[in-house]
Amino acid sequence: MISSNSRNTTSRYFAVINAGSSSFKFSLFAEMHDDRLERRAYGEIEGVGAKPHFSARDSDKRMLGEHQWNENVSLEDLLGFLIEWIEKYLHPHHLNAVGHRMVHGGGVYTEPVMVTPSVMEDLRKLVPLAPLHQPRVLAFIDALSHRYPGLCQVVCFDTSFHKTNSRISQLYGLPQELTAKGLWRYGFHGLSYEYIAQELPLIDEKASAGRTIIAHLGNGASMCGLVGGKSVASTMGFSALDGLVMGTRCGTFDPGVMLYLLQHEKMTPTEIETMLYQQSGLLGVSGISSDVRDLLASDAPAAKTALDLFAYRVVRETGSLVAACGGLDAFVFTAGIGEHSPEVRAAVCEQLEWLGVRLDVKANQMGRIRISSSDSRVSVWILPTYEELMIARHGARISKGCEFIP
Ligand code: ADP
Repeated sequence: MISSNSRNTTSRYFAVINAGSSSFKFSLFAEMHDDRLERRAYGEIEGVGAKPHFSARDSDKRMLGEHQWNENVSLEDLLGFLIEWIEKYLHPHHLNAVGHRMVHGGGVYTEPVMVTPSVMEDLRKLVPLAPLHQPRVLAFIDALSHRYPGLCQVVCFDTSFHKTNSRISQLYGLPQELTAKGLWRYGFHGLSYEYIAQELPLIDEKASAGRTIIAHLGNGASMCGLVGGKSVASTMGFSALDGLVMGTRCGTFDPGVMLYLLQHEKMTPTEIETMLYQQSGLLGVSGISSDVRDLLASDAPAAKTALDLFAYRVVRETGSLVAACGGLDAFVFTAGIGEHSPEVRAAVCEQLEWLGVRLDVKANQMGRIRISSSDSRVSVWILPTYEELMIARHGARISKGCEFIP
């Protein structure tokens, strides 16, 4: 539990909820008097829609609580359980606000925002832009608002960080009536990029003031080009399918393929959607797994093909982002694959030698923060991403004055 000492040095508490399809993760942050946010607890509820299981740990990974339900429980009851658990944990203090990660803010929401009925109405209109993800988060917010009408909720958008992209970089070569309907490049993973952009000046001020590429290589993967810490271009566009080859998503491909599938293979839109989101990428190319660890452990030629394609696409997209940024000073690897796979990082860096990238092989193998050699013209880094902290920072800023008394 929180020690009485730490209670005296904190003022406000924020929960962050990251909604998934069958599970959701949460983190609990305390704001210190110097405005730093410290994570006090984190955990998840798995098996939503079946037999849910709750677990929570403290920052030293010690188990704080566990609960197993033996039947299906409504989302509202699960969230009620979580908020009651948090309130008990914080007693005699209270939660100040809850922050949510939302994929799409459309053209309207370019900053995190406090939830109100009119914001919810706007966000519902954006469902067609992210039909798989947006409704899930809206359902979480609705369930919490219904049970705790006095609870402040803040939504943070994965698209917001790319609001600094130029109009030209956002446009597709489509008729203007379609652009007017919102068919342009938004870019995603913005909370991860924003966090890294805030961290980079602490370790490489010069590079962060210059031209940086951040490669967020997780199950979902994208890259962002930044100049002076602001996004100028990214590999994802209208949807989170664009750009790199991902765990199960296809990445950029010729739209003519889509026409072929519709017209000649007679696939339905739903079948195409399932194939592009869930059966493509590393999984589809290898026929083995979407997980880089499985592919590295396999000696099947198709596993090597998938990994080679993954690295090649990162390298190709780097070329495009370097052009958009007008050069390159720093390259950052982040997220599951970027943070943990020396093999993928090495494959990418070796193919970027022409740009002035020189890998420090030992530093890369050991997963040090800086993995470029001292004579590398481009500095290369591994920085762990922390989207939850970014959401808590926004929540703390926006919800000043909020306190939830259940
Ligand atoms: P998500 O997009 O779900 O947040 P993550 O950023 O957690 O994804 O990344 C998950 C992926 O990271 C896994 O699918 C796996 O491919 C990769 N990964 C995780 N740990 C390792 C590791 N030790 N070595 C290589 N790849 C790893």
